Amino acid sequence: MSPVSNPMLARRQLGLRGRILAVVVAVVLLLGLSTILFVEFAMRNALEEAARIQGLTISRGFATASLDAVLLEDVIGVNRLMAGVMESESDVVYLFIVDAQEQVLASTFTDGFPAGLLDANIPAEGDQYSLRQLRTEQGLVLDVAVPLLGGGAGVARAGLSETRMQRVVGRTRGVLLAIALSVVLLGVVLAYTVGRFIAKPLETLTETAAAVHAGDLSVRANVPSNDEIGLLADAFNEMLAALAAARDELEVRVADRTHELGEANDELAATNEELAATNEELAATNQALAEATQAKSAFIATMSHELRTPLNSVIGFSDILLREMAGPVTEEQGRQLGMVHSSGMHLLALVNDLLDLSRIEHGRLEPSLCEVDIAAIVKRTMKTLGPLGEQKGLEMRFTEGKKCCPACSDPVWIEQILINLIGNAVKFTDTGFVAVELRRESDDIVVAVSDSGPGIPRADLERVFEEFYRVGCESPAKAPGTGLGLAVSRRLAERLGATLDVESELGRGSTFTLQIPLDGPDATA
Ligand code: ADP
Repeated sequence: MSPVSNPMLARRQLGLRGRILAVVVAVVLLLGLSTILFVEFAMRNALEEAARIQGLTISRGFATASLDAVLLEDVIGVNRLMAGVMESESDVVYLFIVDAQEQVLASTFTDGFPAGLLDANIPAEGDQYSLRQLRTEQGLVLDVAVPLLGGGAGVARAGLSETRMQRVVGRTRGVLLAIALSVVLLGVVLAYTVGRFIAKPLETLTETAAAVHAGDLSVRANVPSNDEIGLLADAFNEMLAALAAARDELEVRVADRTHELGEANDELAATNEELAATNEELAATNQALAEATQAKSAFIATMSHELRTPLNSVIGFSDILLREMAGPVTEEQGRQLGMVHSSGMHLLALVNDLLDLSRIEHGRLEPSLCEVDIAAIVKRTMKTLGPLGEQKGLEMRFTEGKKCCPACSDPVWIEQILINLIGNAVKFTDTGFVAVELRRESDDIVVAVSDSGPGIPRADLERVFEEFYRVGCESPAKAPGTGLGLAVSRRLAERLGATLDVESELGRGSTFTLQIPLDGPDATA
């Protein structure tokens, strides 16, 4: 950073010394000028007063001395008197006498009486004298008029030069100006010296600060004096030393940290490479998995389809045999055939669920949307499953709220979901009730299936919607099932834009809630 662009130095250029100098010169000049003006004023007043007294004394003396000669109209005597006064009083410029008829009786003017002088100073009636300052050919004159015998015998006039007084005033002013200039000069020298004494160390400090500002911490302020500025410089130097030490330490730390960061960066780069390799492996594994899943789904779909045909035969024929349509069967044969029939039914349900799941996962199952009377489906399902619950001694309830209008949905899917929910409630509840409530909630139809069954532990609440997950599956005999019903139901509900959730308290029962949008899946998309 150049010194000129440094704001500290730029400000310093205004100069402390210059300011002290300017203040001192201004004060001295002001004091000098006011003293000169005051002295001149006082002196002029004193001189004017003295001139007045002198003029009055001369004029009165001249008037008194010339009275007799005037009364006798002795012009020669008056002239002699005037010559005597002019000789003895060097300041008298002119003298003249005006008689009672206002005619000039005698005057010292040899080259003719000046026009206008006669009327320039006429004392009023009763005045002892009259003083006027007149500008004449002889310069500024103090004109004194003294009436003779109260004006009855005329007026004696004398003119005293003020030039001498002016000269005295001028000389005094000159002396005073010279003194003032000397004082100003002295003040300037003094101010410069004082300014140098105070400003020099400050300038040194400022220059040091500017160097520090520019980034140089090695500079020191060299102020050898022992006064406050010297102490300030010492403190400033100590602070600089501390700053330099702190900066060095910081640089070492930054270097260490940079080194560490560099190493960490290298490690990161290595880890990144490893991650990239792992990613590639994962992508390959994913690809293999996707292919395997595809193959699995294809296998399940084919197998399910292939299994259903013989299964239907097993179920159909065991049913025919059970009904003894093909001839009588023994009690033992009947029991065995019953087991074949129920196992076939169970297997068929499993195959159907598997097929549904596979189709949903591969997006091959599309809903057939239409206006669905949900209440009618609930009633139908209750009619199908009600006898099963009643057989177990359960109370089967159905309540329908107001404004439950038809919804845009797939009736088959809704029925499949409800069969699963109500079927589960009946299956898992031993005593109490199974209640189905249908109600309207803003733009949705809600079906809540509650029971007084064993309930579901909190930790399993979400897991029951996973495929093949069954709570307490260690005793499947107690409540047979596949663990696929809820998984299929939730996926079907999602495809319909609906939600399927569960709330449950262990030992007190469960409530499964299906919330179906009235306007179909697109309304929630
Ligand atoms: P499945 O009924 O064939 O076992 P689901 O998917 O329908 O399969 O249900 C999964 C599990 O959720 C069931 O095994 C059961 O443990 C639990 N469950 C479902 N409904 C109820 C219910 N109403 N009361 C208690 N547990 C239930």
